[in-house]
Amino acid sequence: MTTGKLFIVSAPSGAGKTTLLKRVMADLPGLAFSVSHTTRLPRGGEQDGVDYHFVSRARFEAMREQGFFLEWAEVHGNLYGTSRPAVLDQLAKGQDIILDIDVQGAAILRKSAAIPAASLFIAPPSLPELERRLRGRGTDSEETILLRLKNARMEMQAAPDYEYLIVNAELGQAIDTLRAIVIAERSRGHRLPTGQPIAILSEL
Ligand code: 5GP
Repeated sequence: MTTGKLFIVSAPSGAGKTTLLKRVMADLPGLAFSVSHTTRLPRGGEQDGVDYHFVSRARFEAMREQGFFLEWAEVHGNLYGTSRPAVLDQLAKGQDIILDIDVQGAAILRKSAAIPAASLFIAPPSLPELERRLRGRGTDSEETILLRLKNARMEMQAAPDYEYLIVNAELGQAIDTLRAIVIAERSRGHRLPTGQPIAILSEL
């Protein structure tokens, strides 16, 4: 019997997911990221065991055969997977977990009723605005920007399958919405906004 809850979060690149999640995690205790395994090479500044567990394709495939992953998917030619033992262990300790995963992985988890989960999709207000944000970063090549826009169109098709849709038009409002969703989901689980169980029921 698990006590924590999974928050499955997907968004097209440039929708502001990382900023939103960091802001809400700073406000609400008891929320942690799950560190995925990936066959992608580390980008500058990324640390093994912190951003991802970076593994070879052979190692990933062997782990997958052993049932190590709760879900996995191939994204942009690399494999990504969520550690089953790490997630189950944290949930058992009452920790809520945020899974920042793609739309394929989210679909797999939504179908499996084994673990209580809420699914959230973070969308940009429009595709032209997404393009403006991606260009504004000034970090990506034209080719990368066009690929991200193409992927965003595809990922947006999956938005109606999620329980919650947060449109990140104005950051403050999007943060309020995300915080409200986490608090409401915790209340569904008879827990305080901090994630702790509500003691009064066991005192009756
Ligand atoms: P990036 O390589 O830019 O960090 O991530 C690329 C995509 O892979 C993002 O959409 C991210 O949400 C997704 N992703 C990261 N970890 C996982 C995972 O464990 N499972 C799945 N299905 N997708 C993941």
